[in-house]
Amino acid sequence: MQTDGLVDGVDQDLRYYVGKNGYAYTKSNPHVCIHRLIAERVIGRFLRKEEVVHHKDGNPLNNRRANLVVLPNQRAHIREHAMERIRQAGGDPETQKICGTCTRVLGRLYFPRLKTSFDGLGSTCKGCANSRRRGKYKTLWTETRAEGQRQRRAAARGGARC
Ligand SMILES: [Zn+2]
Ligand SMILES: [Zn+2]
Repeated sequence: MQTDGLVDGVDQDLRYYVGKNGYAYTKSNPHVCIHRLIAERVIGRFLRKEEVVHHKDGNPLNNRRANLVVLPNQRAHIREHAMERIRQAGGDPETQKICGTCTRVLGRLYFPRLKTSFDGLGSTCKGCANSRRRGKYKTLWTETRAEGQRQRRAAARGGARC
């Protein structure tokens, strides 16, 4: 396990352990996430409970200051990860989105509006929604929906945050 940079910005004698969820915690009571501790030192104040510390490179043990971003809440955090996925797929997060069913990178115009969503759009492109109505892609749709539910459950548990 890579622990390089784990205690960056924190006293060298700080004792920590790595939890089952892959995050590092202080050994002293109460057990505090190291990345939240470091983020608090960087921004110079305590974090609010709803604020989430995101690891830019996805490695929960890379707690170097440059790798940490403080986001206002979990909704913004989910959005950040979605934007990252679009960038990795070679798209532009400002104007494009990945369809959760056909996994293509498409312009935002190709998605139905959905106010309750974190980005204001549904997760499935209009083309897939139409195909679904006509009975095509039924298996694909079911699998994608199951995967979406798994991801939402994981996000709701809140334990695995990076
Ligand atoms: Zn699609
Ligand atoms: Zn994250």
